[in-house]
Amino acid sequence: MISVDKKIIEKYKLPLKDAFDYIGKKKPVSKRKQWTSNQRDKWMLREPNCPICKEAWSESNIMTKEHIHPIVLGGQDRDDNHVPLCQKCNLARNSVMVAVLGSSNILAIRNRMPALKGSIEEFVVWCHASINGDEYAMGETKHLTESFLQFRKLKIPFQAFFQRNRSRYTRIKLKPQLFRGVGCSQRIWSREQQLERKRAKEKVKHRFSVAILIVNNH
Ligand SMILES: [Zn+2]
Repeated sequence: MISVDKKIIEKYKLPLKDAFDYIGKKKPVSKRKQWTSNQRDKWMLREPNCPICKEAWSESNIMTKEHIHPIVLGGQDRDDNHVPLCQKCNLARNSVMVAVLGSSNILAIRNRMPALKGSIEEFVVWCHASINGDEYAMGETKHLTESFLQFRKLKIPFQAFFQRNRSRYTRIKLKPQLFRGVGCSQRIWSREQQLERKRAKEKVKHRFSVAILIVNNH
């Protein structure tokens, strides 16, 4: 029986609840949406290379939308659950899932409950920890990282993999703040909103003056 440290289970109780609620059919599947070309371009600016393997995006290894918490285990298709990964890293993460849970199909997973409970716990923890750079949880799920590196055909030692991810995470932690505060998307959006408001006000003003004209003429 696989068991992850109780402290880790406590720390990851929210994503674990999402996973088990979804497996237990207590919540619906999240609708999948494609990234728009604008969203894709913004991710390219934020991450010019794959954050895990550091390969530049290319036609033979394209940037893909990865869900930190897999949709098939109750993850949501929204910004805070997205990370851009190269296709090879994305596929390797999927292979880890199949290796650990026997399938990436929810029906097959449901059929093997509750026997899969421990494996699901460690996999969900790893999905988050490996992107967020949680050193302690990564240490407890080290064999999943080793399996990932094998599928991805990367020979970097576990520690080096972790250091890469940690430095990446330090960057990404700073970036969303910049993005929200003075990021280009916010500024363009608010300018657009301002213009829209201005146009709406002018319309009202125009209608009002036309109404006065009509009243005066009567
Ligand atoms: Zn990659």
